[in-house]
Amino acid sequence: MDRDQLKRQILETIDREGERAIALAQAIGREAELGYQEVRTAQKVQAAFTALQLPFRAGLALTGVKAVLEGAQPGPTVALLGELDGLPIREHPDFCPETGAVHACGHHCQIGSLIAAASGLLAPGVREQLAGRVVFFAVPAEESVEVEWRLSQKAAGRIEFLGGKAELIRLGEFDDIHLAMMVHTSPRGEDGLLVTSETSNGHVIKFVRFLGRSAHAAGSPHRGINALKAAMLALAAIDAQRETFREEDTVRIHPILTRGGDVVNAVPADVRLESFVRGKTVAAIDDANQKFDRAMRAGALALGASVEITTLPGYLPLRQNPDLAALFRENAALVVGPEQVGHRGHIAAGTDMGDLSQILPAIHPSAAGASGTSHGADYQIVDWEQAVLNPAKALALTVLDLLSDGAAKAQEVIARDRPPLTKAEYLAVLRRMDSIQRYTEG
Ligand SMILES: [Zn+2]
Ligand SMILES: [Zn+2]
Repeated sequence: MDRDQLKRQILETIDREGERAIALAQAIGREAELGYQEVRTAQKVQAAFTALQLPFRAGLALTGVKAVLEGAQPGPTVALLGELDGLPIREHPDFCPETGAVHACGHHCQIGSLIAAASGLLAPGVREQLAGRVVFFAVPAEESVEVEWRLSQKAAGRIEFLGGKAELIRLGEFDDIHLAMMVHTSPRGEDGLLVTSETSNGHVIKFVRFLGRSAHAAGSPHRGINALKAAMLALAAIDAQRETFREEDTVRIHPILTRGGDVVNAVPADVRLESFVRGKTVAAIDDANQKFDRAMRAGALALGASVEITTLPGYLPLRQNPDLAALFRENAALVVGPEQVGHRGHIAAGTDMGDLSQILPAIHPSAAGASGTSHGADYQIVDWEQAVLNPAKALALTVLDLLSDGAAKAQEVIARDRPPLTKAEYLAVLRRMDSIQRYTEG
């Protein structure tokens, strides 16, 4: 069979098996789980790998599942990724109160795609053409949420990094992988059905505690130190500096109060907030981060409170390999037609695929099929075939192009890519970003 025939075979197989992949995505969607706690989701993935007779390892970075398809000849390893976790969006109508999560970012579709792509690459005759290995990797904790809970897991030694891909890199689970690809579901249908993009912001995570002194809120407020007022001033101080952020740095700072006080008749003495400080480059993140810290100290200074600022590495900026993107676009055109293959520039949100992209060639295109807003209460999948099967098809065809002909194309992509960081350097950058500062006014 020539490559075009094999491609047809892959597409037909994905169409035939598609219903099952969509049903899996829907089942995961009904029982969303938060990062590092995706136990039942991971079980569903394992069951799907078992049904495909793909060997896998589970429990990686707590919940990750990694299956391998061995090609007929040796060669590089291409990983397709799907993310396991949901989001704590309480206002969403599908919010699962039992797990505290909902899939408002389409990760359930990514997992459906992963399984659909696997079934396509298992079509008769395909494996014989592959030089190398395909890893199907269901990965935990992409969403940067529940900072406090993850910190408790870190303190307990269960994880070191809050993001799933960073943790998997640390654990060596990407040591055997040369190229990585995943497609993220998006509600932005206006860009096309399958869309490549360029860069994305990175960020650091901020976890801040203002400590004051409690006292009766009405009887003796003069004996207290109001930690809530300190936090409010700190937040205003961030807003006062917004015009100092340069457009080209695409800085985003969006704090939330996670604890505003305990009882209404006592002066709040322990007030907490979380934020991200995002930017297009590590230098931009560093600059905005210093302003953030200054604002926190200013709030504490004014009230005579103390403040403890914990900084944690979030994601690094995303870099996408142009050769891989071009190959994906060619195959995407076969799936949805060239007029439906879009392209976007910089994206101000981030992904931990950014971390992976700093150490190996990677792409992170998006697929339409959702409506509403990402992370919003109105996010819904409206076209399952588009959200689950079309990305799977484009990914599977791209894998075939990469690994057929003795993996010539994959070797070319690998040879031309210049990852900015080695794994050791990457881990050093993350550990440098990890700090706790304490500030007390007099
Ligand atoms: Zn998301
Ligand atoms: Zn997402």
